[in-house]
Amino acid sequence: DKFREGLSKTRNSFSGKVNDLVARYRKVDEDFFEELEEILIQADVGFDTVMELIDQLKFEVKRRNISDPAEVQNVISEKLVDIYNAGGNESSELNIQENGLTVILFVGVNGVGKTTTIGKLAHKFITEGKTVLLAAGDTFRAGAIDQLEVWGDRVGAAVIKQAEGSDPAAVMFDAIQAAKSRKADILLCDTAGRLQNKVNLMKELEKVKRVIEREIPDAPHEVLLVLDATTGQNALIQAKTFKEATDVTGIVLSKLDGTAKGGIVLAIRNELNIPVKFVGLGEKMDDLQEFDPEKYVYGLFA
Ligand code: GDP
Repeated sequence: DKFREGLSKTRNSFSGKVNDLVARYRKVDEDFFEELEEILIQADVGFDTVMELIDQLKFEVKRRNISDPAEVQNVISEKLVDIYNAGGNESSELNIQENGLTVILFVGVNGVGKTTTIGKLAHKFITEGKTVLLAAGDTFRAGAIDQLEVWGDRVGAAVIKQAEGSDPAAVMFDAIQAAKSRKADILLCDTAGRLQNKVNLMKELEKVKRVIEREIPDAPHEVLLVLDATTGQNALIQAKTFKEATDVTGIVLSKLDGTAKGGIVLAIRNELNIPVKFVGLGEKMDDLQEFDPEKYVYGLFA
């Protein structure tokens, strides 16, 4: 299936190395763990998370009296899922309003796949029979509005926009009025992805959020941070910055199909305590999948 295919780079690299390791060792010893540590770090699992994982593995191996490396493989999967779930017990499901408008704000730096993700998610909702509007809140980057319109046409969602350079908060205000009068179910809001100046970023996001909140008290219902999986530990740094700038409720990890280092999912969850809600597995409109840690981890070895 799509998920399996999208993960093939990570699977081939990661499970290939683990299988090779297991085949080369006759017993589980310190060297074995050291090599495993290296494989996990290379997969971008993140240093702190790897250390925690190795500690837990050693503990389990001792507790269960495991000496056969082949048996450790199952424990690795188990512990990878545990580590993910230990990051917090928030669900990866979106907070969708049963009645009335759901507003979802998208944040993230340029090029991470924000527009593409908005298009894919719009497509998903439209397929479910919902009415979707898109707000062109990135008024800063040249071409951002046009690009959102291309996606709007492709999936059948209207785009609410103003001229390039206009105030994104004003665009949000318009978009909410339009969504209300058209009785839309979902409003997906793009924002500018400048990270060069954290103070400006914070101010802009705060202003946008304030306008949304004023119109709909419990909105935005989600603030989704889009991160590019191929940027590895950089994605983690971006996530930390955005987490300081605004209340991020979930992560969309894009371009997971383009990297062999899918371990970044675990690092993000474990080091930031923000759930990964979706993963991007390609450039097409149906290349977005809800994230499920078990399916993900077991999929790496299957
Ligand atoms: P934005 O600047 O954050 O809005 O980024 P875009 O949505 O324009 O995406 C940047 C590039 O990444 C485009 O060429 C997209 O087609 C590509 N892209 C986005 N998501 C994915 C994904 O999940 N997988 C792959 N392979 N490419 C993606």
